[in-house]
Amino acid sequence: MTQQNTVAFIGLGQMGRPMSGHLAKAGYRIRAFDASQEQLSTVAAETGATACASAAEAAQGADMLITMLPDGRVVRQVLLDGGAAAALPRGAIVVDMSSSDPVGTRTLGEKLAAKGLTLIDAPVSGGVPRARTAQLSIMAGGDAGAIERVKPILETMGNRIFLTGPLGSGHAMKALNNYLSAAGLVAACEALAVGRAFGLDPAAMTEVLNASTGKNNTTEVKVKQFMLSGAFNSGFSAGLMLKDLATAAALAKAMKVEAPFAQECVARWEDMVGMLGMGADHTEYFRLLEGGKR
Ligand code: NAD
Repeated sequence: MTQQNTVAFIGLGQMGRPMSGHLAKAGYRIRAFDASQEQLSTVAAETGATACASAAEAAQGADMLITMLPDGRVVRQVLLDGGAAAALPRGAIVVDMSSSDPVGTRTLGEKLAAKGLTLIDAPVSGGVPRARTAQLSIMAGGDAGAIERVKPILETMGNRIFLTGPLGSGHAMKALNNYLSAAGLVAACEALAVGRAFGLDPAAMTEVLNASTGKNNTTEVKVKQFMLSGAFNSGFSAGLMLKDLATAAALAKAMKVEAPFAQECVARWEDMVGMLGMGADHTEYFRLLEGGKR
């Protein structure tokens, strides 16, 4: 694709806002839509994107449509019920960068193919900090030729692009990645709570862990930055993490693979969301281990 291409961008939240900004900076014409008028106005003012009144309006005349929405159900709603797919010209490529469920993605792919559209799943990892610096990891599933066509666009947002296989494989990979991320966070928080109760200092523990075999993404980029600091503002909600965990656990069941630890993780995060709410930052899991202190 050339830099003159028009891209419809639907979903301008914590992730979509910086991601659409990189596209605009790279010279793509952006037709943007978000259900929140506030998000839409902010992005239009920041990037010069055209603010559209609906996803279907944003899709008009676009060569490509990107979704960065909460989950696959919302993606299907916007594209099918909301009329965005019907408004796209035949031959356009839809790239779902949300963390959606892989089974729903395959169903959606069939429905879009019947309209002459190609669907790619290209979820991301790295969170808001790496969305801001355009250093996301992108896991792309679907037709290799279509992925090649949109690669220059993906490269404006991420610096590692992996081809994971057929449609839905990116979403499966992402859910499994987040299972590991959530499980590692739970284990790190438990270790810190036990250590603190024994008299160890959590900050000093984190130093030791990060120089030892117990380190993980949570100890490296979350404990000091968002937990011990009390900031709890990583930009990734507990509700979205629970959704990803549930997707991974459901995938294990569908594949008939025993994954009791994944089921246990879902239960832990359900407890967390029950206590702190869907909108709590996922790093607030740490609070549960301080005896529910808020
Ligand atoms: P968010 O809640 O901040 O943003 C979602 C946006 O979608 C909101 O602005 C909301 O108004 C909009 N929206 C919801 N329903 C809509 C509809 N029907 N039509 C138009 N707009 C609608 O979420 P986020 O953190 O940006 O996450 C987006 C996706 O990226 C999720 O699938 C999430 O799991 C995934 N993700 C998030 C992170 C992170 O760190 N935040 C990292 C990797 C992947």
